[in-house]
Amino acid sequence: MAVANLLDFDLDGLAGYCESLGEKRFRATQLFRWIHQRGARDFDQMTDLAKSLRNKLQTRARIVGLPVITQHESADGTIKWLFDVGAGDAVEAVFIPEDDRGTLCVSSQAGCAVGCRFCSTGHQGFSRNLSTGEILAQLWFAEHFLRQRSGKDERVISNVVMMGMGEPLQNYAALVPALRVMLDDHGYGLSRRRVTVSTSGVVPMMDRLSQDCPVALAVSLHAPVDELRDNLVPLNRKYPLQELLEACGRYLEHAPRDFITFEYCMLDGVNDTPAHARQLIELVRTARGGRGVSCKFNLIPFNPFPASGLLRSSKAAVETFAKLLSDAGIVTTVRKTRGDDIDAACGQLAGDVRDRTRVGDRIARQRTVMLQPAGATVPQTTGVPRP
Ligand code: SAH
Ligand code: SF4
Repeated sequence: MAVANLLDFDLDGLAGYCESLGEKRFRATQLFRWIHQRGARDFDQMTDLAKSLRNKLQTRARIVGLPVITQHESADGTIKWLFDVGAGDAVEAVFIPEDDRGTLCVSSQAGCAVGCRFCSTGHQGFSRNLSTGEILAQLWFAEHFLRQRSGKDERVISNVVMMGMGEPLQNYAALVPALRVMLDDHGYGLSRRRVTVSTSGVVPMMDRLSQDCPVALAVSLHAPVDELRDNLVPLNRKYPLQELLEACGRYLEHAPRDFITFEYCMLDGVNDTPAHARQLIELVRTARGGRGVSCKFNLIPFNPFPASGLLRSSKAAVETFAKLLSDAGIVTTVRKTRGDDIDAACGQLAGDVRDRTRVGDRIARQRTVMLQPAGATVPQTTGVPRP
């Protein structure tokens, strides 16, 4: 029997595993609490488990996290970890402390195959999906590291956002058990409203998530029309805007919140003009055959990285854009950039990925032809890269 890593199981899976060892299912709850609530990695610590079970576990199971390659702490308290996932791949997780909450931004893949034009992870290409245990290891490590450091036996991480490296809905099978552990009262006990899956719009998987494990949903929109979104988020060619917004409507029937958060990365001269804002308002109002989509907007000032060739929108452009949306009755926030002194801001997570799909090359090749609709002349001042 292969040695199991117990971080790979949700509670149901662990109960099944205990049964396979000839143990009662309820033992799994004790074990699960030791692992996730107390951060145990050693079966000897688990003094309330029968010695016979501990002995079995010693030989057949382990609790292994991910080796930490580096830890960087920003002046604003943000902490970024780079974890080794083997074979030359590394992924990042970021802790963002705020007055009333602690948020962990978690990675779901080594790299990403979607290949968004403005995203550093996308530029790295795709190596592989993370396992459930590798997704959870980021939370397990961060929570217990921070708790120990605080010296208090209190929960530190109250929110998880699947906004690190990777497209979580392209790693669905590993994602869902990981979400269940986050939500489980015997695990991290997080509220469904405080666990957010962010997606570039994998429509069929949004439907499945609404059935299997509805949590808060953020959808990376970035453009009000298909022509532009096709270029910025290549997945749009498969699931265009109207289909995506239909799926958002269906998701809301099961979601723990009554709105979808639309993320919108503000790119100078590309998607940030008042005309784009007006198109966006029109889009979310008229989609779904006129029923519209209940939503909030989160505008993310673009975080530049060297290979992107793109520029962040001016503060004035972001403010004007936000005001147009707000005046149209759409709740709009502008994301504060945190941890930019340690390159921990959105979209800067690059980890270290061996690109097995050559997505990175594809983006590099397309870079010069993208973003300029046929016939459009782009003034030099907009920040759009010139071929
Ligand atoms: N793959 C998922 C989740 C990870 S990205 C998704 O795309 O939604 C998390 C968020 O960061 C997304 O909204 C993404 O569009 C945004 N993002 C990516 N690169 C960025 C950059 N360079 N600057 C600002 N936001 C960025
Ligand atoms: Fe992948 Fe999200 Fe980056 Fe797009 S923005 S390349 S979907 S991680």
